[in-house]
Amino acid sequence: MDMNTIEAVVPTTDPAEWRDGDAWLAGGTVLFSYGSFAFGRLVSDGGPLRRLLDLGQAGWTPVTLSDAGIELAATCTVAELYALPESASVAGRSWPGLDLFRPCCDSFVASFKVWNMSTVGGNICTSLPAGPMISLCAGLDATATILGPGGSSRTVPVADFVTGDATNCLAPGELLRSIFVPAAALSAKVAFRRLSLSNLGRSGVLLTGRLDPDGGLVLTVTAATKRPVQLRFAAAGLPDAQQLAAAVERSIPAELYHDDIHGLPAWRRDMTFRLAEKIRAELLGEGIRVSGDFWNASGTPHATSAQPSAAPAPAPTKEAPNGH
Ligand SMILES: Cc1cc2nc3c(=O)[nH]c(=O)nc-3n(C[C@H](O)[C@H](O)[C@H](O)COP(=O)(O)OP(=O)(O)OC[C@H]3O[C@@H](n4cnc5c(N)ncnc54)[C@H](O)[C@@H]3O)c2cc1C
Repeated sequence: MDMNTIEAVVPTTDPAEWRDGDAWLAGGTVLFSYGSFAFGRLVSDGGPLRRLLDLGQAGWTPVTLSDAGIELAATCTVAELYALPESASVAGRSWPGLDLFRPCCDSFVASFKVWNMSTVGGNICTSLPAGPMISLCAGLDATATILGPGGSSRTVPVADFVTGDATNCLAPGELLRSIFVPAAALSAKVAFRRLSLSNLGRSGVLLTGRLDPDGGLVLTVTAATKRPVQLRFAAAGLPDAQQLAAAVERSIPAELYHDDIHGLPAWRRDMTFRLAEKIRAELLGEGIRVSGDFWNASGTPHATSAQPSAAPAPAPTKEAPNGH
């Protein structure tokens, strides 16, 4: 932790209090790792961070359920989210989409600190390609509610919230208040595939799929790409393997594949095609049922926050100093 420029920590959830040099503080697992110069703040940008606007005492209810869906407060922690699918509050709901929650939480491969402190909102606002809360929320067509300094409020699909590697649609001072996951998406049959170069590594490729009650197919690509990419097929136009591959090709230009220590773009591209086809085959019931990372092939609920079990696919490697 290197935050020796902080002059004040202000407990507030009011965007009107924001001024240049401020950062919203949620779980702090990014801010306290990257320090006062987090996110490239240079003297020429107005200097390092001066104040932290602490959301820790917001008191927002982490999870609110209704027949319309699930509202997650931005301050909902990964641990709280992980508990939801097994909680009494969702008992009796016919929401197969809940099956995505735990594999996405497990995709953090997180330490105790990250698991218990980091928040859904903090992960989405950090906007890394491998943000597993982005994968989850974008894959389930969730919308983000954003509060502005002038008392404004707007909603944005989470799939559009992230605009690139560590960039998003937030204007200075805007606060992510909550994320709403609609019941329609939760009612879908879902599939999940993830690959990492190392057993405890950050996601290099993470795809989710949905077969909606209306018969439509939605594929969401994250981690492989700098921002989420969604492919949608109406029930009347479900793709075969060739059509899906052609759609992936059309939707993701070469430069959109992410390039960092966690995977070369060529590998991410190849694995995106491969995992997209596995999801298509699984959801359209073409007899192929291949277990992906974290995915329990028996179809029974995921048991614990186990570490990844599936071996990563062969890949060109880069030396990583550690898993993250
Ligand atoms: C061991 C380890 C493993 C990790 N693995 C991953 C990983 O696999 N994938 C990944 O994406 N990240 C990973 N991280 C990074 C980080 O822990 C997560 O992204 C985490 O979810 C961030 O949440 P937070 O609540 O701690 O954010 P904070 O550190 O509190 O904030 C992060 C950023 O978001 C802003 N922010 C937070 N909340 C809001 C809000 N409500 N409105 C507006 N802005 C807000 C902050 O101002 C700051 O700019 C890892 C970190 C560690 C230490």
